[in-house]
Amino acid sequence: MSRCVVILACALYLAACGPRVLEPDAPYDCERCADWNKPQDPFRVYGNTWYVGTEGLSSILIETSNGLILVDGGLAQSAPLIDANIRELGFDPLDIKAIFVSHAHFDHAGGVNALQRLSGAAVYTSDNGVTTLGTGRLEYGDPQYVADSDQGSFPATRNVVVVADGGAVTVGDVAVTAVYTPGHAINSVTWTWESCVLGSCYSVVYADSLTAVSARGFSFGASGAAAAMIESAGKIADLDCDILLSPHPFFFGMHDKLERLDEGNPFINELACTFFAEEALGWLEQRLDAEGS
Ligand SMILES: [Zn+2]
Repeated sequence: MSRCVVILACALYLAACGPRVLEPDAPYDCERCADWNKPQDPFRVYGNTWYVGTEGLSSILIETSNGLILVDGGLAQSAPLIDANIRELGFDPLDIKAIFVSHAHFDHAGGVNALQRLSGAAVYTSDNGVTTLGTGRLEYGDPQYVADSDQGSFPATRNVVVVADGGAVTVGDVAVTAVYTPGHAINSVTWTWESCVLGSCYSVVYADSLTAVSARGFSFGASGAAAAMIESAGKIADLDCDILLSPHPFFFGMHDKLERLDEGNPFINELACTFFAEEALGWLEQRLDAEGS
């Protein structure tokens, strides 16, 4: 073989099958971003379910019999940390087949585009999330929407697919079910799946944020977002729920639980979803009081 042919063959191999690396999008700038994006060692939550996010923004990896599932992508600048955490656990981010988004805000969907581009995965959301993920811009009706502003915008994502409320997506031996839980965002989805070890199976619930945080001038009471959130909290409290996860680690006491790993698995707690919902309703009440609703 001539040297030219060898070089051409090598170039074609690298283009088609060579190592692909993550190309992050431009970082998002916000007051809490640096704190949220501090590195966090990845760890196994239970069975097929791993934490691969940052200190303040969750990303969950699910191992299936036919590739990987990722839930949430943090900020744009979280994507390289998530990529590194997945590799540290011995998995290949190129094996991600599906990315589920809790809600389309910059701090959970910002890193999705880079991870989607790397893996070619499909990105799953609610019917209200498709346009926001596809454009990277918030829509009217979202509590954090600001008219005539790109505030809160994030990298637009390709390959976005709708999952109906109650619908499921199956990757290998894992089925992930969507439970629409709007309130914090118009497109909030709580995702649930089962994780088994030697016949001990637990229901994992990735409950979306239920915090009444908004742009200035938005009224949770008047807009109906409060009513939606109350209904969503009820749905989450009623779920079959053994392990609670959520987009911000403090919602499920992750750092405290990591301190208590020697007492068995502190992530297994069948009351966690009920407490999560009750706490959220308490915060909402405070917000409605402040609004005068
Ligand atoms: Zn949010």
